[in-house]
Amino acid sequence: MASSTRVDLDGNPIKPLTICMIGAGGFIGSHLCEKLMSETPHKVLAVDVYNDKIKHLLEPSTLPFSDRISFHRLNIKHDSRLEGLIKMADLTINLAAICTPADYNTRPLDTIYSNFIDALPVVKYCSENGKRLIHFSTCEVYGKTIGCFLPKDSPLRQDPSYFVLKEDESPCIFGPIDKQRWSYACAKQLIERLVYAEGAENGLEFTIVRPFNWIGPRMDFIPGIDGPSEGVPRVLACFSNNLLRREPLKLVDGGESQRTFIYIKDAIEAVLLMIENPARANGHIFNVGNPNNEVTVRQLAEMMTKVYSKVSGESELETPTVDVSSQEFYGTGYDDSDKRIPDMTIINKQLGWNPKTSLWDLLESTLTYQHRTYAEAIKQAISKPVAS
Ligand code: NAD
Ligand code: UDP
Repeated sequence: MASSTRVDLDGNPIKPLTICMIGAGGFIGSHLCEKLMSETPHKVLAVDVYNDKIKHLLEPSTLPFSDRISFHRLNIKHDSRLEGLIKMADLTINLAAICTPADYNTRPLDTIYSNFIDALPVVKYCSENGKRLIHFSTCEVYGKTIGCFLPKDSPLRQDPSYFVLKEDESPCIFGPIDKQRWSYACAKQLIERLVYAEGAENGLEFTIVRPFNWIGPRMDFIPGIDGPSEGVPRVLACFSNNLLRREPLKLVDGGESQRTFIYIKDAIEAVLLMIENPARANGHIFNVGNPNNEVTVRQLAEMMTKVYSKVSGESELETPTVDVSSQEFYGTGYDDSDKRIPDMTIINKQLGWNPKTSLWDLLESTLTYQHRTYAEAIKQAISKPVAS
């Protein structure tokens, strides 16, 4: 419950804040709003073009925190109300972005605009008005690991200095221009550099967050149920959709890429520490991920198949996975990140934060949610006669 006796990591009382959260209606935003409403006294000005994922926090107006959250439906590309909202707040958190790999090579212009151009006014208004900014970047700014350029049989591939990603040391290694996945990474990198420069030249108080595959309930959409039938969400929702429909999970280019997945609720704890400890968070870039939860995409598919069978009571398919090429799945211009292990030294030192939830446990709670939320709707959609 919200309490006035909350203290920060240095034992100082935390003053209630007003937070302008841009992109509050998305996956991360919805969890952050929930956390702020249930555990803190802070106010949220929730900005987005959609609010479906935070409806439960906005209605009915008798909710105990109703006076602390308000929704502002606006597109930050072109809305003069944005500066006023930033001025009203103590802190702005910018989550708004196009951040789904299927969009990077099919909507490259929207991707670049959304991640760089549209974020510019947010940075400018924060800087000009002396407001603190927490900007959401991505682990993708690291691009490929140095290790992936070594020969396949090189023993150096096992050496962490060739793959662990460090905020203050690792280079950012992107592929060629026609591999448009890197347009997202490049736009995010440039906005990071701009935020950093505003800090250096104009004293902007900022924190940059680099999420490493945060996953959990409400991530993206299930195609044909609460999103377009032909839409391609991120891997958690793709695989959930396959499992719900009893289809084989599609492994892009053999499913050899590696990822570390972190439970959204663990990651939100880290963001709350940043919000409430500006003296420790300002001027820093933080990796937020779980280095202990590394799997290949193939291993993720196998684990999700097992966990889904457990939580749904349904048998596993005889052929649980199928290989597809990236060309077929995403189209021309797709490329992939090979491996993403976050170094945790900086966030650990500054905020004393560590992730807690194992991959199995986070999949169990997430797939229980997916089953509860979508299984019936999928059954109905499948049983509907196809219009002739
Ligand atoms: P999301 O797509 O669920 O949320 C983004 C929200 O921003 C959406 O609700 C969208 O409607 C809103 N938005 C986009 N453009 C807007 C505009 N012009 N005006 C108003 N609202 C707009 O994505 P998410 O997973 O919650 O990610 C949030 C941020 O974190 C993004 O910046 C993303 O790049 C970054 N990130 C997330 C992950 C992850 O693991 N989820 C990984 C790397 C980076
Ligand atoms: N992927 C896959 N099958 C799918 C969806 C994604 O094999 O149905 C792969 C994708 O090629 C990538 C990984 O899963 O290697 C993670 O993809 P996601 O879209 O979640 O985002 P990324 O981590 O690449 O930013």
